[in-house]
Amino acid sequence: MSGEVILKTEGLTKHFGPIKAVDGLDLEVRRGDIYGLLGLNGAGKTTTIRMIVRLIRPTRGRVLAFGEDVRSNRLSVLNRIGAMVEIPAFYPYLSGWKNLELLYGLSGGRDRDRLKEALELVGLASRGGDRVRGYSQGMRQRLGIAQALLTNPELIILDEPTNGLDPQGILDIRKLIQRLNLEQGVTFLVSSHLLHEIELTCNRVGIVHDGRIRIQGEVRELLSSAVHVSRVRTTPVEAARRAFASLGIEIAVQYGDVFRLRCGADRLADVDAALHAAGCRVAELTPGRVTLEEFFMAETRKPDGGPHAA
Ligand code: ATP
Repeated sequence: MSGEVILKTEGLTKHFGPIKAVDGLDLEVRRGDIYGLLGLNGAGKTTTIRMIVRLIRPTRGRVLAFGEDVRSNRLSVLNRIGAMVEIPAFYPYLSGWKNLELLYGLSGGRDRDRLKEALELVGLASRGGDRVRGYSQGMRQRLGIAQALLTNPELIILDEPTNGLDPQGILDIRKLIQRLNLEQGVTFLVSSHLLHEIELTCNRVGIVHDGRIRIQGEVRELLSSAVHVSRVRTTPVEAARRAFASLGIEIAVQYGDVFRLRCGADRLADVDAALHAAGCRVAELTPGRVTLEEFFMAETRKPDGGPHAA
């Protein structure tokens, strides 16, 4: 991954009357990323994406894509970006192929092989001739991604691509994004309120809250920087307490012979050795793991934003 920033927003702001939908939002997507824009309903994700692809104009701030200002270089920049914003609207009585053909024609595209390839990439090649009316929600979402792929874009922006899908549909979309990223080198910006999904799909994340990015960074690094609480069951408890103290490990909570320790998996071998040396019997030793959900909840409950990680 080159680390080249291909999409950047600077102080992006959108007010709808008194509502500050987006309020000075700074995000950075690097080439090769699957970047998750994560936030609760109403956090400002869709408004941000609509400004990035110029469906609406920002009140303030700017969007730079591939180093160029999207406002003054709209066509050249947007040609390199594919997008699916909100639920894709297709003509239900036309086939998937015909729908794509119409949309592709509108953007000046004529290459039928590309159409075929896009349908193949999203796994709809065998159903391309069927009317969209008969497509499941997941198939429509995949057709939306095929449409975003038509111009062979370097960056694809998907607003809530798993909205309304069942677990199998969600899994299909996740695999599709990861495959296109890996095999076709497509960079993704994906918005979602599904924390677990973002954790499984994305390498980087920006947490949006009240129209701003609260924190941004590598998912793995953010999670490993959070405080871990491991679980240990051991007796006798007094000897165990002394063993933890000798290692300088704090006890977060203790109930009976179960301790929750403020330490990650990297300290558990020491904990095990110290307990055995102290004559304790160890019945359980489980490394603490912070999920993106717990991390998100902790971050969004803070009164103001924490530091913006690189
Ligand atoms: P969701 O996941 O529910 O779509 P979101 O993070 O995408 O949420 P936005 O749709 O961007 O959030 O909305 C942010 C805020 O801006 C909300 O308070 C919303 O009601 C408001 N908003 C969005 N579009 C408009 C509009 N056209 N007119 C007035 N208010 C709007």
